[in-house]
Amino acid sequence: MKAFYADEQKRHDPKAFLSSGAPQPNPEQPERVERLLAGARAAGCTIERPGNFGLSPIAAIHSPEYIDFLQHIYARWRRIESASEEVIPNIHPIARGGSYPASAVGQAGYHMADTACPISAETFDSACWSAWSAVAAAEAVMAGEPAAYALCRPPGHHAFVDVAGGFCFINNSAVAAQHLRRQAARIAILDVDLHHGNGTQGIFYARPDVLTVSIHADPVRFYPFFWGHADERGEGSGLGYNLNLPLPRKTGDDGFLDALETAKRRITAFAPDALVVALGLDAFEGDPFGGLSVSTPGFSRIGQAIAALKLPTVIVQEGGYLCDALGDNLTAFLTGFEG
Ligand SMILES: [Zn+2]
Repeated sequence: MKAFYADEQKRHDPKAFLSSGAPQPNPEQPERVERLLAGARAAGCTIERPGNFGLSPIAAIHSPEYIDFLQHIYARWRRIESASEEVIPNIHPIARGGSYPASAVGQAGYHMADTACPISAETFDSACWSAWSAVAAAEAVMAGEPAAYALCRPPGHHAFVDVAGGFCFINNSAVAAQHLRRQAARIAILDVDLHHGNGTQGIFYARPDVLTVSIHADPVRFYPFFWGHADERGEGSGLGYNLNLPLPRKTGDDGFLDALETAKRRITAFAPDALVVALGLDAFEGDPFGGLSVSTPGFSRIGQAIAALKLPTVIVQEGGYLCDALGDNLTAFLTGFEG
């Protein structure tokens, strides 16, 4: 399978992170790339550098003021006396009833959902290349490849139209889906990351042309808390085109695969022209987040089950954090997918 990745994606190197209020090292480390590249190569992937697709595929998802914010906020932030090294929000609007703020501090609060997405000098460039890897994989599938893998890092599925969050800045899975829409009328996005794909759900919540399905740890006591519950079904003409399948903590292979069968029935009924898999590997039993208990052979079964949908498929990397098996889990998924 073709795989896409650019070295610029490694330059984003976030430091700040709070877990239950306590400062911790940020888990979204550049080293993840090395493990994932090794895993993709072990599965027989050839790694290609994506082209520079410019801002238009990103602007097809994200708002102009948000893209401008991501592009320029770091330089503006550094002009503030005694500001932190990275852009980190310390004030948030309650909902969005007020005015759009003019200041860097106000805009950081407006456009950043939490403290897990600090912005440094390299962040925007890394995030653009990550999105372009997703676009390149979509282009490969549009050109006739049965499937392609985008090694997207930083990840994307927690990013909304105009809000970053949870290590994510540009929603790569949404960018890939929207790019596929140039050629295909109906797209399904299947998110198997440990965490609910709240940004992706939010982006397509009112649209019937992109079905969003997410399998994840129950958000009742887990990030992203406010989204991912089973009663979130879409709105307006998108009502019924969002399916959430929250799982109890520590669910293993069999429970995950049961939920995947439910997801597949919904996707088959939708009859999409193409599929985007938001591939988090953090549902792994040894992942530092410890939310679910999928095994390495379990990822192979998940890949096999998704391939049985027999759809043109863009596989977009989402989460999956540093642990010995990170690369092996990607290899297992991709080899399972390719049968
Ligand atoms: Zn995750």
